[in-house]
Formats: sequence, structure tokens, C-alpha cells
Amino acid sequence: MTMKFCSLSSGSSGNSTYLEAGSSSVLIDAGFAATRIIKSIRNIGCDPSRLDALLVTHEHDDHIRGIRVLLKRYPVPVIGTQATLDVIKRRYPDISSRFFMPINHEEFTLGDMQITPIPISHDAADPVGYSIKIRGRRISIVTDLGYVSSEVVSGVKGSDLLLIESNHDVEMLRNGGYPVYLQKRILGSKGHLSNKVAASLISFLLESRQAGLIYLGHLSKNNNMPELALNTVTSMLSRRGLKYNKEDIRLTCRDHASEMAEFD
Ligand SMILES: [Zn+2]
Ligand SMILES: [Zn+2]
Repeated sequence: MTMKFCSLSSGSSGNSTYLEAGSSSVLIDAGFAATRIIKSIRNIGCDPSRLDALLVTHEHDDHIRGIRVLLKRYPVPVIGTQATLDVIKRRYPDISSRFFMPINHEEFTLGDMQITPIPISHDAADPVGYSIKIRGRRISIVTDLGYVSSEVVSGVKGSDLLLIESNHDVEMLRNGGYPVYLQKRILGSKGHLSNKVAASLISFLLESRQAGLIYLGHLSKNNNMPELALNTVTSMLSRRGLKYNKEDIRLTCRDHASEMAEFD
């Protein structure tokens, strides 16, 4: 059974990740125009009509913007925490309630996938990341979090693939044009992860041999640069004397799909 993973887009302008394993496929978030999401899935050689579900991490626009139109084209269940789905229902009252499948923080099964929500700290109703186990392989997606809690560490460790937020460079954010209140929000415990914090988590995971492929996600357009995010991570790994394969640390993009990851 081949597993395919692709970040279709990642960043504050819109997030969506495609994951396929055997006969099951899911989308994690639908944060940009549905027509573009559908086109992106086709562009990577996959079939959007085979989607089994849409997993939602939280209700911010950059994660749900395409949901209405996507459901019109492909009426799949929308899975998320009760509080997240409640906000989505209020925002899009014309989406029929029959689409919504609320979860709590417990593991659940969807086709070939065993999915565990990972609670995260972010300024949303009840945000989560997801760790998805498929026949012994594990893929975790955690973005939009103010800090790395012990729940996040235990939720992601040992993943064969981890998409982790590397949102901003703290200096760029402090010296950039963002108003102070917004800087505080991003840097706060319910905001976003900096490159350095992402680098520390990745170092910790590599030190304990608990990491596989890493994708850096949700990079800020104004307060980060792809090379800077990558360098912050790789220089920390080098400083700590950790061996890693350059190919195993990858970037996601704001305006196009990432490199596809495939596992047998
Ligand atoms: Zn976001
Ligand atoms: Zn968010």
C-alpha cells in the first residue's frame, strides 16, 4: 500500500494538506479557494472525488475558507472538535448539519487510518493538530500553536513524517511593520511557533531518534523567509552535533504544493 502526503499550500494565506493511504484519503484543512484545492489535488496526480473526509484543525479563515464550495463539489464529512464545528456552523449556516462529525480528543478510526487529535494552544475555540497512524506508519501535522506542550511532544514523537509550524523569525517580527498588539498575539502562548522553537523541537526529536521526514509549515510572508527558516533549523542541528539527511528537512510553500512524500 502506498501512502502519499502533500502540503497543497501552507501559510497565513491558506492551508490544506492531502493524505492518501490505500483506499483512504483525507484533506486536513481547506483554507483557500476550493477550485484551487481541487486543482492542486489533481496536479499531484490524485483524485479529489475519492476524498473520505475533511479534517479541520481550527476555525481560522486560513484553514476553512474553501469549505463551503468544496462540500458542494464533494460532500464529505467534516471532522473537528465540537467547539470548532460549532463556530463553523455559525459562520456558514447554509452548510447542512449532516456534514459535521464532531470528535473529542480521543483516537478514532477512519477507513485505514487511526487518527489522534493533539490539543494545541492557539487563539481558537478548541484547536488541534492530528497524528494519523496507517499500518505502522505515522504522520503528524501540528501548526498554529503558541508553544510546544508536553502533549504536543508526546503526540508527534516517533512520527515518520511531521509537518511542524515554523512561522516567524522573532527579530524580523520585532523589527518589522506589525503593530505591537499583533506582535504580542503572534509571540504569545496562543499564537504561532518561531523558527527557533521549531528547531528546538526538531533537535529534541532527532536527539531521541524520534523523527523522520520533517516539513516546515505555516511560514509567515512578512516575518520569515524560507531559507531563514531552513537555516535556523539546520544550524541548530549542526551546533548540537546531530546527524540528519538534508533531504529529510523540507519546506512547504504558500503558493504551490510541496514536494510529495511517498511511503510503501
Ligand atoms: Zn493558520
Ligand atoms: Zn490559526
